[in-house]
Amino acid sequence: MNSEPSPLSAPAQSAKAATTAGNYFISNYPPFSFWSDHQKVEVEMALNSESPAGTKLGLYHHIPFCRKRCHFCYFRVYTDKNAKEIQTYLDATIAELKSLAARPLIAGRKPHFVYFGGGTPSYLSAKQLTELTDRMKAILPWDAAEEIAFEGEPGTLNAAKLAAIKQVGVTRLSLGIEHFDDHVLEINGRAHRSGEVYAAYERARAENFSQINIDLIAGMVEETEALWQKNIEEVIKLRPDSVTIYQMEVPYNTTIYKEMKSAGKLVAPVADWATKRRWVKEAFAALESVGYSVGSGYTAVLNPARTKFIYRDALWSGADLLGVGVASFGHAAGVHYQNLTEMEPYLAAINAGELPIKRAFRTSPEERMIREFILQMKLGHVAFGYFREKFGVDLAARFSAQLSHLAEEGFITATADEIRLSRDGLLCVDTLLHEFFLAQHRTAKIV
Ligand code: SF4
Repeated sequence: MNSEPSPLSAPAQSAKAATTAGNYFISNYPPFSFWSDHQKVEVEMALNSESPAGTKLGLYHHIPFCRKRCHFCYFRVYTDKNAKEIQTYLDATIAELKSLAARPLIAGRKPHFVYFGGGTPSYLSAKQLTELTDRMKAILPWDAAEEIAFEGEPGTLNAAKLAAIKQVGVTRLSLGIEHFDDHVLEINGRAHRSGEVYAAYERARAENFSQINIDLIAGMVEETEALWQKNIEEVIKLRPDSVTIYQMEVPYNTTIYKEMKSAGKLVAPVADWATKRRWVKEAFAALESVGYSVGSGYTAVLNPARTKFIYRDALWSGADLLGVGVASFGHAAGVHYQNLTEMEPYLAAINAGELPIKRAFRTSPEERMIREFILQMKLGHVAFGYFREKFGVDLAARFSAQLSHLAEEGFITATADEIRLSRDGLLCVDTLLHEFFLAQHRTAKIV
């Protein structure tokens, strides 16, 4: 993961590698390491431009609070804030949203989706959540939104909390279960245990959310073959609308990496990539055998006609995104940005009436095309017609060398209309995408 990718890297080889420190998951393009504070002014310019016809708008709200820091976590989270500090933060996010919603790019538009991520959005009390969402809706009404997504940690989801989450309009509840075994949960620093998982799931079902997703991680510390099989059995018993499975990565700012470093170890104490991919493959096969369909490199869905990933599909086809809160990511009219990642500077910027931007990047039309292409590859299929129509590009010609290489490796097949990834290609899709980056973006650190 950390070696410099060559124009035609060797994914089959890297798939066998031990898990070392670094990020493997590609969530945006160009890579974050190219975003800079020099480009902050681009965000102002983008927000002051006219709203583009037909571009969808999403709203992301970041809740950076958790009960406990998981050992594999690399997000900006706080575990020590009291109710007053949380209220100060929520007030700041409302001030930020108010300022953003008044800009020419946003004024008059309504979100196509709203997403509460973190951190742990369900860490908020029912009262905090209701007040926050009432204030948000008064600024930017959600009545046209097709999806309101919300991440929940099982141990925070009591009956009153779940009722409030349903009441504010959440359609997609995503449960960060990660694993069903208490020892694995404990050793990885998770705050919840399996008893809370089953209780939260049952209560969430009783609230009749349109979609319940379960997140799992393949290859947590002390994962075993038997425990992983048990995970698959348990998730099948619960039968959620969708299952999202990540392969464990060990980024540099995690507790696990800090322990590796102090012990002088280069290899993380988790399974190698080939094993993690096999575990996901087995999980997908088991889920397919009971009626699920695999909808991306990470997800299986019970009823694809009914269960959509509105936020994902909008973002992966170029939607604008208002990212609100500390460390949030956003996209405004071709400009990527991320907010300040520490609480104090974030609050200070909001109090000073400034945009709390840490870094930004204005994309070119070619970079936007590549971004959409690599993100859509994660779905397992890419339609040539979409890119011809939207970007005027013939993907087969533009990427002929890379596509031939991946076809030879058995990771894709291409017809006149589309590219399809094989199951093995899909399971290592993040390692295949560097080949499509512009030469100047192929760096050692893809974070
Ligand atoms: S619950 Fe999620 S955001 Fe919070 S510490 Fe754990 S991994 Fe990080």
